Amino acid sequence: MPEFAVTTPSARYPVLVTRGAVLKLAEFFPARSGRAFIVTTEDVWRLHAERIERGMAGHAAHRIIFPGGEHNKRLAVIEHMAEEMMAHGGDRSSFVIAFGGGIVNDLGGFLAAVFLRGVPVIQVPTTLLAQVDAAVGGKTAVNLVSGKNLVGAFHQPRAVLIDPEVLRTLPQREYRAGLFEVIKCGIIRSASLFHLLETKSHDVLAMEPDTLEEVIAESVRIKCEVVSEDEKESDLRRILNFGHTIGHALEAETRYTHFLHGEAVALGMKAATELARLLGMLDAGESRRIRTMIDAYGPVPGLNGVTPESLLPRLAKDKKTIQGSVHFVLPTRVGEVRVVSGIEDRLVLEAMRSAWF
Ligand code: NAD
Repeated sequence: MPEFAVTTPSARYPVLVTRGAVLKLAEFFPARSGRAFIVTTEDVWRLHAERIERGMAGHAAHRIIFPGGEHNKRLAVIEHMAEEMMAHGGDRSSFVIAFGGGIVNDLGGFLAAVFLRGVPVIQVPTTLLAQVDAAVGGKTAVNLVSGKNLVGAFHQPRAVLIDPEVLRTLPQREYRAGLFEVIKCGIIRSASLFHLLETKSHDVLAMEPDTLEEVIAESVRIKCEVVSEDEKESDLRRILNFGHTIGHALEAETRYTHFLHGEAVALGMKAATELARLLGMLDAGESRRIRTMIDAYGPVPGLNGVTPESLLPRLAKDKKTIQGSVHFVLPTRVGEVRVVSGIEDRLVLEAMRSAWF
C-alpha cells in the first residue's frame, strides 16, 4: 500500500493511496477528538455515504452539505458553515473531514483553518484532480469576485486518504481533466510516469485498477516531495504551476464556465511547451512528444472565440506574477522544467497561436 508523508516546518502527515483508504478514516482522528464535521456535496454523499459511514466507525459526526460549484466557493459559505458547526456543538475538540472534489477540499480546509482559529482537517478527495493535487499541500482558499482563490490560508491536513475506487462514479470528462494534472506531474518531474502514461494510455483511460493506483501514487509522491521542500511556494513549488499561467487566463476569460480546470491547464501546457521550443530550451522531438501526449488524453473543448491577444492582460494580473513580471514554468525535457520570466509578449502570443491553431 503506497503511503507517503508530507514534512514541512509546520506539520508532518501521512498521505495514503490505496483501494479502501476511506475505511481507515477513524485511525487518523485526532486524540481525544470531539464531534466530526463532514463537509461534502449531495452527489458525493449519495454515491459514497456508505463507505465513509463505515470509515467513521461510529464516531459522532454532523454532515454539512455544500451545494457545489465554483461560484459558491465564497467567504459567505464559510460563515454559514461555521455557524452550522456552532449550532451543532462545534468546539475546539471538533475536526473537519473534507469529503469531495477539489472545491470541497479547498472549502473544508479553509473552514478548518479559521473555525475557532483552527481545528484539524482530514482530506478525503473524491475526484482525480483533488487526489493528485488539491488535497495534498495545505493550500486552502475561496474565490473573490476579482479572481479565483484570492482569500485563503495554508492549513496542512492531519492526513490525506486517497481511495482510487471512489473515482468509478466520476464522469469521464472530470476524470480526463484530472489526468492532465497527472501528465503535468510527469512532465515536471517524472520521465517514468510520462512513459507509463504514453505506453498504457488504454489502461489509464479504462481505469484499470493497478494502473490507476500506480499513476495516482506516482503523482502524489511528486506532490508530497515538492510540498515538503517548499511549503509556501517561494521556489520549487512553483513548478507545479506548469501550464497554469495561461490555463488560469483561459479560465478567467471564459468566466470559469467553459473549461474544466484540467482542460485549461492542458491548453496552457501545450502553449508553454511551444514557448520553450521557440526559446530554444526544448528540442522539437520532446516538444512533439508532450503535445502528442496531451492530445491523446483529450479532447478538450474549443477556444470559444478566445484569442491569444485577449489573454495577455490577464497574464500580467496572474497571482503568480511578481512585480509585473510574468513567470512561466517551461520544460527543458520530459521530467525537467525551469522557471523563466521576462519573456517578450510577441513570443508568448506566437506560442499560443502555434499551439492552438
Ligand atoms: P469539483 O470539486 O467541482 O468536483 C467536480 C464535480 O464532481 C462536482 O460536481 C463534484 O460534486 C463531483 N464529484 C466529486 N467526486 C465525485 C465522485 N467520486 N463521483 C461522482 N461525482 C463526483 O472539481 P475538482 O476538479 O475536483 O476541483 C476543482 C477545484 O480544486 C478548484 O476550485 C481549484 O481551485 C481547486 N484546486 C485546489 C488546489 C490546491 O492546491 N488547493 C489545487 C488544484 C485545484
